[in-house]
Amino acid sequence: MRLSRYFLPTLKENPAEAQVVSHRLMLRAGMIRQTAAGIYAWLPLGYRVLRRVEAIVRAEQDRYGAIEMLMPTLQSADLWRESGRYDDYGKEMLRIRDRHERDLLYGPTNEEMITDIFRNSIKSYRDLPKNLYHIQWKFRDEVRPRFGLMRGREFLMKDAYSFDVDYAGAVRSYRLMMCAYLSTFARMGLKAIPIAADTGPIGGDLSHEFHILADTGESQVHADPALLELEAETPGPEDDIDSFYEAVTRRYSAADEKHDPAKCPLTADQLVSRRGIEVGQIFYFGTKYSKPLNAVVTGPGGDSIPVEMGSYGIGVSRVAAAIIEASHDDAGVIWPDSVAPFGVGLINLKAGDAKTDEAAEHIYQALSGAGLDILYDDRDERPGGKFADMDLIGLPWHLIVGPRGLAAGTVELKRRATGERNELSVESALARLTEAPRPVSLG
Ligand code: ATP
Ligand code: MG
Repeated sequence: MRLSRYFLPTLKENPAEAQVVSHRLMLRAGMIRQTAAGIYAWLPLGYRVLRRVEAIVRAEQDRYGAIEMLMPTLQSADLWRESGRYDDYGKEMLRIRDRHERDLLYGPTNEEMITDIFRNSIKSYRDLPKNLYHIQWKFRDEVRPRFGLMRGREFLMKDAYSFDVDYAGAVRSYRLMMCAYLSTFARMGLKAIPIAADTGPIGGDLSHEFHILADTGESQVHADPALLELEAETPGPEDDIDSFYEAVTRRYSAADEKHDPAKCPLTADQLVSRRGIEVGQIFYFGTKYSKPLNAVVTGPGGDSIPVEMGSYGIGVSRVAAAIIEASHDDAGVIWPDSVAPFGVGLINLKAGDAKTDEAAEHIYQALSGAGLDILYDDRDERPGGKFADMDLIGLPWHLIVGPRGLAAGTVELKRRATGERNELSVESALARLTEAPRPVSLG
């Protein structure tokens, strides 16, 4: 992509409304714009990140056996009356009435709808287990939407729902999703800590939240430091999930409300105690929805069994922001390779100069031809402004082409994360970039 033809409205000044770094940098880097309180438009650069995050979430859900579908954002109130949640959910639910005076709502979550689809389609234990998910916008009318994408009103969520014939099956589904989550966040360059949690309005009796450590997190978490190293050991779907799950859940972790130093096997200085951002949560809730909605299957003996369920959410849009909270410096964002909007930023230091244009164009074509996603800054601007923009939007590699280097036969390659710079021949720069890890494909 040539920057001169792209839509990248960056801001020089810090927007006054932004209190946290992700909100500030997403506005400044031209990734998002607010359209109403807690509601955002994703501009082209931001949308690429959102889609990369989504692609990783999707790949890991698929890998651990969940099946993708898509449910609508609008739901009928009647289903929620069946579960009893229409009245329980409170003001966070956006209620809508259509022209026929029928009550609808913009879904804050989908337990009722998926249970309805399930009960109308699956009748036998032989069709289980099943885990169905979708990636869809949710609406929760938060009292105080704040921190940009971190606590919006409309936000993108991946929510999966598992159906099993018995408790043992449900536990296996739950454990598979825990592994999927750890591996998902690790692929995004994040260290996510599983924390035993209360179940809240979803209900049930087993739940874990996944937290990213960052100063702007809304909760205080306390954890065994070993939980920060899980990604190296996370088993695949065919491996020994149970031993891993037990090893993980044996380690101490708690959010502030549940943290009890007297019950914690580690002393205060052995614990990691920091702010955490909740990027996901998983629940086992048994028959909480299948009983009232009568979602039953026929068991081996012909008896009617209410299915055992769990639900598994990831805040896809919150994750995009949380990555920035965990990975930035004073100059801007530092994207991990896998989710970067473009893998390489190519800077032409003297647009309009025939030799420089020719060399930059050659590099742009060669890298594009090798399948890399490049943002080529071909604008006729001063180098200082180009460097600042490139640092702000935080692409992992910057390749700088200027007349002085070219005269000596070199270009400069900079790694955004470390600031390390190398003068290389064009050929070796191209070779380095073609071999380097790339953002996940946008498909
Ligand atoms: P929170 O405690 O932050 O309000 P929650 O526990 O109500 O979140 P869940 O029902 O567990 O949220 O939803 C699954 C995921 O969706 C959360 O882990 C979070 O990452 C994301 N999420 C929830 N609410 C919001 C929001 N208002 N804006 C952005 N993401 C959200
Ligand atoms: Mg939660």
